[in-house]
Amino acid sequence: MDNNNTQPQPQIQNLTDGMHIVVDALKRNGVEVVYGICGIPVTDLARHLQEVGIRYIGFRHEQSAGNAAAITGYLTKKPGICLTVSAPGFLNGLTALANATTNGFPMIQISGSSSRAIIDLQQGDYEEMDQMNIAKPLVKASYRINRPEDIATGVARAIHAAVSGRPGGVYLDLTTALLASVMDKDTADKTLYTVEDPAPASIPSDASVDKAMQMLKQAKNPLIIIGKGAAYAQADDTIKQFIEKTGIPFLPMSMAKGLLPDDHPQCAAAARSYALENADVVMLLGARLNWLLSHGKGKHWNPSVKFVQLDIDPQEIDSNRHIEAPVVGDIVSSMGLMVKSLDKYDIKPDPAWLSGIDADKKKNFAKMEIKLNDNTSPMNFFNALKAVRDVLENYKDIYLVNGGANTLDDTRNVINMYMPRHRLDCGTWGVMGIGMGFSIGAAITTGKSVVAIEGDSAFGFSGMEIETICRFKLPVTVVVFNNGGIYNGWHNNLGGGSDPSPTTLMADARYDKLIEAFGGTAYNATTPDELSKALSAGIDSKKPTLINCVIDPKDGTESGHISNLNPKTIIKD
Ligand code: ADP
Ligand code: MG
Repeated sequence: MDNNNTQPQPQIQNLTDGMHIVVDALKRNGVEVVYGICGIPVTDLARHLQEVGIRYIGFRHEQSAGNAAAITGYLTKKPGICLTVSAPGFLNGLTALANATTNGFPMIQISGSSSRAIIDLQQGDYEEMDQMNIAKPLVKASYRINRPEDIATGVARAIHAAVSGRPGGVYLDLTTALLASVMDKDTADKTLYTVEDPAPASIPSDASVDKAMQMLKQAKNPLIIIGKGAAYAQADDTIKQFIEKTGIPFLPMSMAKGLLPDDHPQCAAAARSYALENADVVMLLGARLNWLLSHGKGKHWNPSVKFVQLDIDPQEIDSNRHIEAPVVGDIVSSMGLMVKSLDKYDIKPDPAWLSGIDADKKKNFAKMEIKLNDNTSPMNFFNALKAVRDVLENYKDIYLVNGGANTLDDTRNVINMYMPRHRLDCGTWGVMGIGMGFSIGAAITTGKSVVAIEGDSAFGFSGMEIETICRFKLPVTVVVFNNGGIYNGWHNNLGGGSDPSPTTLMADARYDKLIEAFGGTAYNATTPDELSKALSAGIDSKKPTLINCVIDPKDGTESGHISNLNPKTIIKD
């Protein structure tokens, strides 16, 4: 053999492709987990994620993968990422992406899409759909990347859009041609970068802070309503300082429960109606005056109430009624300035206001205890929840996921939260089906134990993800409050036929059997004592567990606490 070959060797170019560049761009920007379902054209993309050490959590339905991504965004202040296939997969994920936008959770849905040329002439491609344009009205931003040299820019724009200002959902379209496109690796590497400060501080003006502080100072009956925007901001210590130093009572919105513990002496949750009817100045702290607060007007409110509103989004101000003192900025900055200025203002709620709230709380606690201690067989929502409450008092750091109608309302009222961002629920839309996606997202992101309290109907929307929970061996205990129906299981077919009524589900269903199929632990609980033992065992095991909790099919109010929103005809049932 001739070892002295002097012939010039052909240059072997070091090539990469669109898929690898996408993975590299995500990695470069600190993405640690991607939730999704693979298939054409993104299967290899998912494999390459694992190859570079990004966790890939494969689901059974894209909506749940999207919900997991959305809650990851809420918990981390970084965009949660969901990966889907084209058209149907894209649409399945889109509900979660729209929900993330509505709730202000940063999330990026990345979907593969088919050939542009064929889509644009509507020639009938495999899973043909103009995904980027369909996503547009439902998200903060919708982008398509067409060239491999633009991938870093596309990923950067998606991240900026998702986390800046009011966070939300972003759609990122990756065409099959882009994923397959080839580029010189060194040149591709040079395009990559890490985004700088994607959620910059937004500092309110001194004048707006001063006006807010003056209004709180003049108030006799001030109230602070804490929303999930405040929880998202992670300004926990500053908020606590402000509330404790001013002595102003606070009302947590559902997902803000636990930002200060629910048993805090200033918590007015148990005196909600009294507080809203009598407050003269309300400070909204990352909470919108939407339907959940009856738009800040009407019979639930003191007619002469005035508002201070801390929000990052200037467009939110005056959205439902006049806001006398808007403080537009991010809550870390705004609360920081307000705490700093506390010495200049003598804020002191009227003692009669505080004692009025305390008296109302005592009265309502006593009423609640009677409900909780009512021993019925089968169980009702309240005595079942008492069992859950007594167990969870021993696990104050548990992540609590909650979905349903009565199951949602009653759990929110009965179960105290003690830590910020530990209650994850149906949110602003009152959407059904977040249960298993949120549970998986929370367990993966935090590594902590999760308890999901789900109505039987709510559970059905994402129940197949039990397989995902078992496959990834997650410390999730699901409690299905099984009252055999939507709202309850006690309705007739108005036509008298043998078909079940529209709200009827199977009251004798054994949801626990579902998890047995995947090797998880199953319990069927028919008494508070059985429920209590099963729940403790499930949490202690740190293994996938499902408890079928048998509730009286007659128990449960139609539409839960918001029956006023559900038009009623004259029904004979
Ligand atoms: P809730 O349902 O708990 O009342 P909402 O979702 O209605 O809460 O309101 C949250 C509000 O918080 C939104 O108006 C959003 O713009 C705002 N927000 C989100 N993040 C921040 C932040 N970091 N600083 C200030 N406001 C924020
Ligand atoms: Mg039910």
